Amino acid sequence: MVNEFEIKKQICDIGRRIYNRNMVAANDGNISVKLNDNEFLCTPTGVSKGFMTPEFICKVDAQGNVIQANPGFKPSSEIKMHMRVYQKRPDVGSVVHAHPIYATSFAIAGIPLTQPIMPEAVIALGCVPIAEYGTPSTMEIPDNLEKYLPYFDAVLLENHGALTWSTDLNAAYMKMESVEFYAQLLYQSKLLGGPKEFDKENIKKLYEIRRKFGMPGKHPANLCQNKDGVNCHNCGGACHNEEYKQFPGYQYDFVGGAAPAAETTTAAPAANADAELVANITKQVMAQLGLK
Ligand SMILES: [Zn+2]
Repeated sequence: MVNEFEIKKQICDIGRRIYNRNMVAANDGNISVKLNDNEFLCTPTGVSKGFMTPEFICKVDAQGNVIQANPGFKPSSEIKMHMRVYQKRPDVGSVVHAHPIYATSFAIAGIPLTQPIMPEAVIALGCVPIAEYGTPSTMEIPDNLEKYLPYFDAVLLENHGALTWSTDLNAAYMKMESVEFYAQLLYQSKLLGGPKEFDKENIKKLYEIRRKFGMPGKHPANLCQNKDGVNCHNCGGACHNEEYKQFPGYQYDFVGGAAPAAETTTAAPAANADAELVANITKQVMAQLGLK
């Protein structure tokens, strides 16, 4: 395991990236990393995340209470929303919160990122829903966030910003970059007359890539492929739960109600170009996600 001081340095590095990429203004944003079930490192409140050094970083327990903080530093006031993610998602090792311009604009306009417009966004994120507005630093944000946690790895926070989480710090940060890039593309293509969306068949192919590579995290592609809930190997039975059917991305997997074939059949010559394209895209996406 990487030592604690190294992780503190990594948090400072990611803080600088977030600040330098205009994903936060002034002292906004916060980052946390799980050390073990009862120890978490997090950024302090009231400092710019672009100018932190390791001694700024605080340590809290699973409830967000301070274990260690140097004089003058207090854990982020938003630590509660981070702790809710760790509590509900034991697979998560890091949480990143920022206010990137485009993603936050969508969060303010009340438009979730659900339009399937590019392969990487569909594979890496699926859809990014909006968690209902809550007053910062109260329990409203964690409470409103909770229902999205079992199904997604990124949400917009209504009239506020974005929150991403993943297995480790780098992956959680990369997810934030992906969300912002997706939001920016969506915004720009709307200016150009509206994006041309993938059809359901193409979305299914991209979801299939994600499943095939067993990519970590939660995503609409991980929802049960069996509409009738016969073999709930993907959702652990969640397909019986009406709640999850309301989430964006769900509908793409159920074209005509048929479950996708278990084995991919040999591609016909006409489909080869498609297959090659998807393979190339997948390679790039996997590299971007640091999976290979
Ligand atoms: Zn915020």
